[in-house]
Amino acid sequence: MLIALGFTAASMPQQTGRIQAAKRVARQMKIATFRVSGERKVGLVDEVRQRVTPFALPRDEAREGVLALIRHADAPELLPALPLGKVALEAPIPRPSRNIFCVGKNYLEHVKENTATSLAAGVARSAPPANPVVFSKLPECVIAHGETVKFDPRVSASIDYEAELAVIIGKGGRSISPTQAMDHVWGYTIVNDVTARDMQVRHQQWLIGKSQDTFCPMGPWAVPRDAIDLADARVRCWVNGELRQDGNTRDLIFNVPTIIATISAGITLFPGDVIATGTPAGVGVGFKPPKFLVHGDAVRIEINGIGVLENEFQEIR
Ligand code: MG
Repeated sequence: MLIALGFTAASMPQQTGRIQAAKRVARQMKIATFRVSGERKVGLVDEVRQRVTPFALPRDEAREGVLALIRHADAPELLPALPLGKVALEAPIPRPSRNIFCVGKNYLEHVKENTATSLAAGVARSAPPANPVVFSKLPECVIAHGETVKFDPRVSASIDYEAELAVIIGKGGRSISPTQAMDHVWGYTIVNDVTARDMQVRHQQWLIGKSQDTFCPMGPWAVPRDAIDLADARVRCWVNGELRQDGNTRDLIFNVPTIIATISAGITLFPGDVIATGTPAGVGVGFKPPKFLVHGDAVRIEINGIGVLENEFQEIR
């Protein structure tokens, strides 16, 4: 476990056996940020036994959530396990230190459904993008698995979901090449890139339509990078039990190394930065008529190798 959490493994080829063992462990690791007795902790989740084992982290470090672990070259000691049902899950990085990077139009089938909508709205956008479309969400809109997304019908009448794999940066850097990019990935989580479609069109720039308070459910926890095979990670989303999105990260137009190389070309990435990689086809606006979210809807996102992120949507009245 020590090696799996740090970044030194790749530079120690003589320890191949240990690295392979560590990767096996890493594939099963789920690392949650949670609250117990009012205090934030970070711990290893055991879904089968429904337990979470906290790391012995100083309180001021645990405040950063999973980022506290990223900063440690070695895994901290473990404390006694707790029942998962007795803790309150938080987003893996409850308050990112800056905006969440997001990639738009990164699955071809989603570009097609998006194009039809854009044309109908008189905002002509046609071909798949030649370069990654990067925008961001404010860090204050992050909420946890199980928390409620609250939308204001006086502000938007077209609330939509977007199931996405999100990358968590472990090692910062600038001008990161695609071949080096995966060394900078610590792990992954799930993000629901909740979007007010009418605001997206009305304001042309996406920030406010994507950053309304509570519009970034993240979780339920994070997994190290070896837990996911980007060549085959299924991304699914259900609304009230109805399957709406069923994509796979193998279909990303711009893959994770390309995204990291593009952003870091002129912007230094830091440990704990989160990059949502885009959503597959099947968002509400793509249906005819559109299926926007209404009060009481439950959106459940599952990515193989990570878990399930589920949130209810409620109107602010
Ligand atoms: Mg998105």
